[in-house]
Amino acid sequence: MGSESVTVVVRCRPLNARERALASDVVLSVDPRRCQCSIEKPGAADEPPKHFTFDGTYFLDQTTEQMYNEAAYSLVEGVTEGYNGTIFAYGQTGSGKSFTMQGVSHPAAQRGVIPRAFEHIFESIQCAENTKFLVRASYLEIYNEEIRDLLGSDTKHRLELREHPERGVYVRDLSMHTVHSVGECETIVERGWRNRAVGYTLMNKDSSRSHSIFSIHLEIYNTDAGGQDRLRAGKLNLVDLAGSERQSKTGATGERLREATKINLSLSALGNVISALVDGRSKHVPYRDSKLTRLLQDSLGGNTRTLMIACLSPADNNYEESLSTLRYANRAKSIQNRPRINEDPKDALLREYQEEIRKLRALISGKLGTADLAPLLAGPLSEASPAVPSRAQSTNTEAEKIKEATAEYEVRLAKLQADYNAEQECKAKLQEDIAALRSSCQSQLPRLEKAPASRGGPVPKNGNRTASPQSSSSCVTEDVVAELCTHGESPPTKLAEPAVRVQNTPPDQQHVLERLQQLEQQVVGGEQARNNELKQRQKQRKNLADQRKVHLIRALSEDSEDSESVLLNVYNSIQEEVHAKSQALVKVQGKLKAAKLEIRDLQAEFEVERDDYLASIRRLEREGLLLHGLLERMVPLVRRDCNYSNLDRLKKEAAWDEEGATWRLPDVVVQKTTLPAAVTPKLSAGRASAGDSGEPSTADDKEEVEEEEGDRYKEMLDRSDSENIASSYFRSKRAIHLLGRDAARGHVLHPPPLVRGAVTPPICTDSALPRPFRLESLDVPVSNAKVRRKKSKSHIHNEGI
Ligand code: ADP
Ligand code: MG
Repeated sequence: MGSESVTVVVRCRPLNARERALASDVVLSVDPRRCQCSIEKPGAADEPPKHFTFDGTYFLDQTTEQMYNEAAYSLVEGVTEGYNGTIFAYGQTGSGKSFTMQGVSHPAAQRGVIPRAFEHIFESIQCAENTKFLVRASYLEIYNEEIRDLLGSDTKHRLELREHPERGVYVRDLSMHTVHSVGECETIVERGWRNRAVGYTLMNKDSSRSHSIFSIHLEIYNTDAGGQDRLRAGKLNLVDLAGSERQSKTGATGERLREATKINLSLSALGNVISALVDGRSKHVPYRDSKLTRLLQDSLGGNTRTLMIACLSPADNNYEESLSTLRYANRAKSIQNRPRINEDPKDALLREYQEEIRKLRALISGKLGTADLAPLLAGPLSEASPAVPSRAQSTNTEAEKIKEATAEYEVRLAKLQADYNAEQECKAKLQEDIAALRSSCQSQLPRLEKAPASRGGPVPKNGNRTASPQSSSSCVTEDVVAELCTHGESPPTKLAEPAVRVQNTPPDQQHVLERLQQLEQQVVGGEQARNNELKQRQKQRKNLADQRKVHLIRALSEDSEDSESVLLNVYNSIQEEVHAKSQALVKVQGKLKAAKLEIRDLQAEFEVERDDYLASIRRLEREGLLLHGLLERMVPLVRRDCNYSNLDRLKKEAAWDEEGATWRLPDVVVQKTTLPAAVTPKLSAGRASAGDSGEPSTADDKEEVEEEEGDRYKEMLDRSDSENIASSYFRSKRAIHLLGRDAARGHVLHPPPLVRGAVTPPICTDSALPRPFRLESLDVPVSNAKVRRKKSKSHIHNEGI
């Protein structure tokens, strides 16, 4: 398996209105022939410009069309053959990432990479011969390190990342949408685009604060020359990253600043992954440091062809950011991927579809006998069959009923068989009609081909022109109708006949036909297989992309040959050699100077970056202190019987969940303490024997206590009906009443008053009675009665944060 480097191109946008108003200078220049981009430091005329070589350089007014045809075409074409591909735009906010990926509709040459990729994929699908495709799309964004489905029912719902030994890293529950045409793809992208998180910063008022990934999943099915079925799968990721600028420059505060920190974290993680991949010594590649790097894991050092488009602003006031982007892009060039065709994917949906289609076709064409139809008919027949007779009925009646049902079943089967036979005859007739139609079409084809081919128009959903002869009559008929409609002709009237016949077919067959049509509508491919003009155009674009590759290889090798040739050349005279070598020396000295400056700049950049990180750390520390202060004030307010009143214990019990990147906190538990209830002497006497703890010692005891408590509450309720509680509660009491017992009922009615200093000794002498435990805090002689506390636990489930 061969490896290939990540392709990196740079694109520099024109000065925008703000930069023009500030009279900014252009510090970037481009040599497209040598694919070189140079940047000059503003206000440092003595310093030589820095040069970077890439796989393509696009300046101010070059179009997305040109860039796509030269740099992206072969990658997207590879996806239709079963390779994985990723195209991502990188750069500071406002540098033209979204302009490159999404683009504008006018002028057409500036339409973005995403719509061009749709067009390209569907063009290839339509031109493919004997190949069927299942095309599905998904769209997600990573906002504040949370993954959201931009096409899902709830776009704010947070999705989880999962890893599968065969599928690799994937997003659980991400919605997939089957698409049949460019138009459908565009609708889906628009829908997702509207749901993206957009925020205002000084750099760009429409700036997106999230990374977004639009993916097109292809399943490709064809039969090769040897009659072998071949199934492949390709996936194209189109990534629009959030801006990479420094926080200080965006003027962001509050929530925006928090977003920026997260954006910078995932972009730094991306940078670290690139560095680790490029630096051969590093064994660990930190993919797990951010959601973005985990999702792009396969695109950076994996089984994917990757194109990075580094977007730049030419203005002098963006020098630092542009230089940093160029360095980032320069490093990415060295990443090696190992792309391969994904043969025979295990979880292919298309395999299931093809299997079902084959069975249904065999059923319709009569290859499967009526016995195979039985399971299909079982449902309706059993519904129509008489109800199961009761046991009281005689076995004779049962036998009769079964006989009747069987007879009815056989009649229906015979009728169906007759219908099928009629259908077969009609089919033969219809095939003759189709042959006649084909020949008439063929005779009109030259004229039709002159008409401009509709590019990017919707593909007929049921377009199955290459369907085998066993195809259902209705499908074939509709294909022809669709074909004629595409060419602007109304279908001939005699084609209406099979449509009517489909209406009149028995319901079961109707179901089979409907299902077949439904399945066939899922797949696309080969609709324009005979459109020579389209095929020619496709070929031209392929050639252009190939030529471009050859040119690039030549330009890069010229560059390296230059320096080597000086030493290897044979010179006619010493003077000539001295001249050539001194020129080479000047060049090398220039390079040395540039390298030294580069070291100085890198150190300076490192300092700036460090300051940025330190500022983030300080800000986070301040935030942490604020939260800690708040917690310290709030913890005493939390009830003591709740486990959240003990912060140290909570910290110990909390665990970091690596997979979900969240803290798993313990559930909230409240241990309710109820004051001892007024108890009957009988109960207290019983409890006194239950053990020292005062708690019921056995399950039986517990049950008993609960029962008694239930009785007590019932009694209290009854009492409250007969007594005027309000007036008796506020009636003045003497100490004897408060500490003593109500002789009549045998209950302690009221707790003693909390008196500081001397406390009146209790007059009550009933040592068997329990005392509320709070009384123990008073300096009152306590009898040997036990104090009972009942604890009940209530749990509140706590989600991880
Ligand atoms: P980003 O996505 O990187 O934050 P945008 O793509 O939104 O930036 O671009 C910012 C502005 O610059 C937009 O108004 C866009 O129209 C303009 N722009 C970007 N690139 C180009 C270009 N190559 N040609 C003309 N205008 C451009
Ligand atoms: Mg953007």
